[in-house]
Amino acid sequence: MKIKEKKIFQKIENADHLLGYPLSEQERACMRHVSNVFKVNVPACYLDLIDWNDPHDPLRKQVVPSEKELEWHTKESKDPIGDRIHSPVPRIVHRYMDRALLYPTLQCAITCRHCFRKDSLNEEDGFFSQEILEPALSYLASRTQICEVILSGGDPLMISNTDLAWLVRQLEKISHLRLVRIHTRIPAVLPQRITRDMVHALRGRLMVCIVTHINHPREITPANIKACRILREAGFMLLNQSVLLKGVNDDADTLTTLFRDVTYELGAKPYYLHHCDLGRGLGHFRTSIETGLSLMETVRGELSGICVPQYVLDLPDGHGKVPLGPSYVEGHEAHTWLFRNHSGNRHEYEEIVSKKSETRP
Ligand SMILES: *Cc1c(COP(=O)(O)O)cnc(C)c1O
Ligand code: SF4
Repeated sequence: MKIKEKKIFQKIENADHLLGYPLSEQERACMRHVSNVFKVNVPACYLDLIDWNDPHDPLRKQVVPSEKELEWHTKESKDPIGDRIHSPVPRIVHRYMDRALLYPTLQCAITCRHCFRKDSLNEEDGFFSQEILEPALSYLASRTQICEVILSGGDPLMISNTDLAWLVRQLEKISHLRLVRIHTRIPAVLPQRITRDMVHALRGRLMVCIVTHINHPREITPANIKACRILREAGFMLLNQSVLLKGVNDDADTLTTLFRDVTYELGAKPYYLHHCDLGRGLGHFRTSIETGLSLMETVRGELSGICVPQYVLDLPDGHGKVPLGPSYVEGHEAHTWLFRNHSGNRHEYEEIVSKKSETRP
């Protein structure tokens, strides 16, 4: 890795460093136990965004460990969405026909306290190497129905530009691949990592789509805006996913501002709002689905269609994602449908379907 790239990664603080910040007694007391179980990693520039006078700061909750992470419900799991069942070779998860996940590394710039892969991130062989990815690349080459490869992890942008360039060139050689999608929290939490050199490493035959992960409007900063501008000017498609988190963004005002700012400041389309998965020790972050649906209905009424993400749940045991709604269909009888509109009023709609076009072969 070049010195310039290395320097960026040196600014990531671990549990010991975090003890130098103005933590509460409770946070200090549980740091050791929690960091023995789950990693602790936070870029210094993210810690600078925290209001340390506020014990309930929404950014603080996403990065400073809580003793509640060690309270595990029996239905919570190390592998909450069944990645293992769908992993045919190391570093691949293949659940849907036309797209597959590939993990270049299991390292992250930040360890989000709400991460559903927190358990996998502890794996010791989680580093990048060309050898470790060989079976994954052969697998992708052998499945001609796959047209989209999703780099996930871990954070794919933790690997050097040289390694990124190598990986993308390998993917480009697989002729049935058309798009490379990168799931990353780096534009939000370590924006200095996004450079023109990095763009250059990614750009080539494949369409590139970057999916950022931003959960709170205060994660949007001038540095973050600049990073996203570089990605858009490169011609990359830019989307964002968020996780619905109790005490972080589970109110309509925060979500409305978040989805607007993501769209209007970053030029990223809000793609998914994830219901918090059944990962171990995430109970204190999880809202009810009822709450999620009601929040989505409120924000849907306020926002431009561009700003509205799809609220989704990833089913346990690898059964995949389901869109949760809300649904505006109140019922129907034959061709008469009853809908609820954005203000909550009910309206009937008479469906007109031409018989002729229906019977045409
Ligand atoms: C979430 C996920 C995807 C991507 O699904 P989209 O709905 O296309 O965003 C692909 N593969 C796996 C295994 C996933 O968990
Ligand atoms: S960046 Fe993504 S993979 Fe890494 S800890 Fe956060 S949510 Fe998990």
